[in-house]
Amino acid sequence: MIQPILDKALAGERLTSEDCTALLESKDFVRIGLAADEIRQRKNPGDVVTYIIDRNINYTNVCNVVCTFCAFYRRPGKPETYVHSIEEIEKRIDETIAIGGTGVLMQGGLHPDFNIEWYENLLSILHAKYPKFQLHCFSPPEIHNIHLISGLDYETIMQRLKDAGLNSLPGGGGEILDDEVRARVSTKCNTQEWLDVMRAVHKVGLISTATMMFGIGDKIEHRVRHLQRIRDVQDETGGFTAFIPWTFQRENTALGRKITEEPTGIDYLQMVAVSRLFLDNVQHIQASWLTQGLKLGQTALRFGADDMGSIMIEENVVSAAGAHVEANERDLRYQIREAGFTPQQRDILYNYINREGIDDLDKSDSMKLKQLTVAFAD
Ligand code: SF4
Repeated sequence: MIQPILDKALAGERLTSEDCTALLESKDFVRIGLAADEIRQRKNPGDVVTYIIDRNINYTNVCNVVCTFCAFYRRPGKPETYVHSIEEIEKRIDETIAIGGTGVLMQGGLHPDFNIEWYENLLSILHAKYPKFQLHCFSPPEIHNIHLISGLDYETIMQRLKDAGLNSLPGGGGEILDDEVRARVSTKCNTQEWLDVMRAVHKVGLISTATMMFGIGDKIEHRVRHLQRIRDVQDETGGFTAFIPWTFQRENTALGRKITEEPTGIDYLQMVAVSRLFLDNVQHIQASWLTQGLKLGQTALRFGADDMGSIMIEENVVSAAGAHVEANERDLRYQIREAGFTPQQRDILYNYINREGIDDLDKSDSMKLKQLTVAFAD
């Protein structure tokens, strides 16, 4: 029943949301994967699979909203709260640069006291000290929080953060972009606000990624609406570089204790493949090895993904909720090669990075380049 839909996609025709629903409801995930692999080859010709060396720095875990799927946040004033100093952030950046990293993905909780000046100050200090190091920071909920605290519209906020040194915005906090689901699991920005932040990001000339975390009580219809909304904004702005779906990590979360069914590996691969087919205007689809494991992350490279994401030398948010997979650069390159591709380091803007000694790294059993493995929540 799905072959006419796949033929349509392969003929270059845009899929409808009804087509998208039929593909996500189908059990024929292998056939969907084959079509997605074909489209991925056309969209990103050649055998290259990219990855990035960056670091997630979670500058604070203080958060004044509640998301029942989150094991990372602490309420203001509670024990175990932290805010990293500039010196601590710089130390982490220095370590990232030492292993060939090109940028940082910096996100945090929604701190009730951090206004626009706090973020501008942080960015301008880091940009002055590391002018070539890419600052990929602050998801839409953080931008919405600045809007609530400073009373500025999204476009003004984004222009000011860009002027302070911001390079791009991570697409975090998207979860499911449908308020039927979103309002049940979170008190942070709603679907319209998330999308409007992204419109403002793109309007001031910055790029961003887009994400989806599914398995939080959503049904196929919600996932389809999420994809449709991303595609619609992309038609308007063209500012999304990549789409990154992953599944809810349930450990230590209030929602995880209630959910009785979670997405399987096949659900994940099918979502990657359908994303590739439906999001005909998004260049890159990223595999989420951190949440799915290295082997399923590798398999996603044959289901439409063309990017393996980050070696993630520090991650605190999804690891707090049960994602305990570790990998260094050599591991990631190995998985990419064994899937039949050529590994290629990139930066946040998808420029290729060619470092001396990288071939030795591929040949070595022991690390010849200094590597840090994943450091989980400290
Ligand atoms: S997901 Fe983000 S916004 Fe939600 S509670 Fe956790 S830190 Fe706060």
